[in-house]
Amino acid sequence: MTGPLVALPPGKFLDCVHCGLCLSACPTYLELGTEMDSPRGRIYLMRAVHEGTLGMTPDVVRHLDLCLGCRACETACPSGVRYGELLEAARVVVDARHRRPLVDRWRRTLISSIFPYPRRLRALLAPLLVLERFGILDIVRSANRWVALLPRLDSWTPLAEVTPAQGPERRRIGFVAGCVAQVVFAETNRATVRVLSRNGCTVITPPRQGCCGALSLHAGQQRAALDAARRNLDTFPGDLDVIVVNAAGCGAMLKQYGQLLAGDRVYADRAKAFSAKVRDVTEFLAMLPITPPRGNLRTRVTYHDACHLAHGQGIREAPRQLLRQIPGLELVELPESDTCCGSAGSYNLTEPWMARHLAARKAAHILGTGATCVAAANPGCILQIRVALRDAGNAIPVLHPIELLDQAYRPRDA
Ligand code: SF4
Ligand code: SF4
Repeated sequence: MTGPLVALPPGKFLDCVHCGLCLSACPTYLELGTEMDSPRGRIYLMRAVHEGTLGMTPDVVRHLDLCLGCRACETACPSGVRYGELLEAARVVVDARHRRPLVDRWRRTLISSIFPYPRRLRALLAPLLVLERFGILDIVRSANRWVALLPRLDSWTPLAEVTPAQGPERRRIGFVAGCVAQVVFAETNRATVRVLSRNGCTVITPPRQGCCGALSLHAGQQRAALDAARRNLDTFPGDLDVIVVNAAGCGAMLKQYGQLLAGDRVYADRAKAFSAKVRDVTEFLAMLPITPPRGNLRTRVTYHDACHLAHGQGIREAPRQLLRQIPGLELVELPESDTCCGSAGSYNLTEPWMARHLAARKAAHILGTGATCVAAANPGCILQIRVALRDAGNAIPVLHPIELLDQAYRPRDA
């Protein structure tokens, strides 16, 4: 089938002047060296489909599927091409028009019907809890590289709905706990709430909040993504000063609610107001500013720029600024720090070959710095880089900057 991509004015493609300056920033082009796996090549394909000169063929879908959606091309592009918007529209069309092979369909259905729902994810992981009770989970951990990286399963207690500020209240915060992160990164969430509270913030964590919708949007399931957005708009109180999120991918999506729901008569105004309040936790704390931590961590840290923080939200300095405030922490720059690690939402499950190559490239750069710890402000990147370092034979810790900050506060709080 041919025909226009949804909700895209034709002029969007004309912004691309084919200069090629984005090519060296594109991870898939770096790995494969093929034009159709570069931003310029993909824009060419999307435009041809949009104008009806090319159908949404399996080959076109393959090149679009291989795109990480990392948006490094947007940062590199001097013409201001909004590649992320083009890709999102194209993926809606892929979802509507292209019938994938059975195994691919099953895998994608499994991801979209489990990951955005913390209860279902917990149910899926529940057998591991039983193994832990019987003391045999460590055997499974030693045999399975992904299970090995899950935190201790007894940490699945929900966050308190209200965590009071320590000292006089400076801000009233809504905290986005995430869907997968609630289950797999519960300790990072707890550290985030502790650091916010330690810095005078009352933290409200609405228990009925759901997935931000990014997983659905990136899979081309626009309706599910918008439903997720509306649900969160109904869940978070309107009187909060700031909405804080510690996952870069979710933050980029939450900041898009206003744009995504601009045509919704009921939700447009609330979505715009909500998005205007969203801050990544590092962005928020850097401008607050924080009470300087006193604990000396004595560690050499390198920082990986999560794509949806650096390219999606333009946040690079805030996490580095926070890390530099930690006594005894030496920050060393990482070569290609803003090149995707291959995590990219559920990309490492749908495109494992490319994801593994990019992860290995990231691990090699990290180990070359001589760092004893890695900081990354996105749960997906943390998990991906942990696996990559383990595969490279040097499993140094990979933590969210907020966890390092939390550690640096703790000696003083104890
Ligand atoms: S989003 Fe990332 S992977 Fe996709 S074309 Fe742009 S730079 Fe390449
Ligand atoms: S997307 Fe931007 S940088 Fe890439 S070829 Fe087009 S105009 Fe040039």
